[in-house]
Amino acid sequence: MLYPEVFDPFRVPGAVLCVQPHPDDCEFGAGGTIALLAGDGRDVYYVTVTDGRMGTFNPKVYPEELARMRRKEQEEAARLLGVRDIIWFDFMDTDVPVKDLRGRLITEIRRLKPSIVIAPDPYTRYEAHSDHINTGRAVLEALILSGLPHVNDVDIRNGLEPYSPRLVMLYYTSSPNGYVDVGGVLNLKVDALARHGSQFPGRDFVEFLVKVNAILYGKLAGVTYAEGFKVIPVDLLHVAPFIERI
Ligand code: ZN
Repeated sequence: MLYPEVFDPFRVPGAVLCVQPHPDDCEFGAGGTIALLAGDGRDVYYVTVTDGRMGTFNPKVYPEELARMRRKEQEEAARLLGVRDIIWFDFMDTDVPVKDLRGRLITEIRRLKPSIVIAPDPYTRYEAHSDHINTGRAVLEALILSGLPHVNDVDIRNGLEPYSPRLVMLYYTSSPNGYVDVGGVLNLKVDALARHGSQFPGRDFVEFLVKVNAILYGKLAGVTYAEGFKVIPVDLLHVAPFIERI
């Protein structure tokens, strides 16, 4: 793969957890990489932070109805990519609180023990959706705290152990430092994203969106189609400001 060796997710064995603010973000941001990791025999899990009930411009679609629709779309899309399980959190769409989400994530990290966590980059300057920013921040905070036994100690009383993943991969990033060649799974990614019919007008549009992003990241990576990530070893998520330049 197209990574500096220590940042290569394909050389870090173990389960993978992809966190998304809304149904469709894992597919859009990292669907090709998820398909490749699952195809490698890795257990891939999703945490979906909100049910996406606000995601429509149509005032005649009721939020509860949209949430039901999106849940079904997400289950189909994840199945196509080989995802093992989806954990649904119950945070309100457009109103995700960092600290509460962080606590729930710490518990899931201790339960699922992923070696790699995939999440939206919260430090993309022009990202305006607070759910994306807050989800990314909550994930990064959870990653440095999940190994500390006195944090969320209710988990420990419930029989879970402190646990730290090794690597975080941030999607939707404007500062990629690692790329996955997704040329071989691009159609699969388009098929999976197109399952989110409530969000996109059709497969052709989805294909256009996926290709635009994959070509831009691909140019940086020197391949036709790539997904780009800011990849950071969890050990460097605190007091290591040089990671911004790597
Ligand atoms: Zn989203």
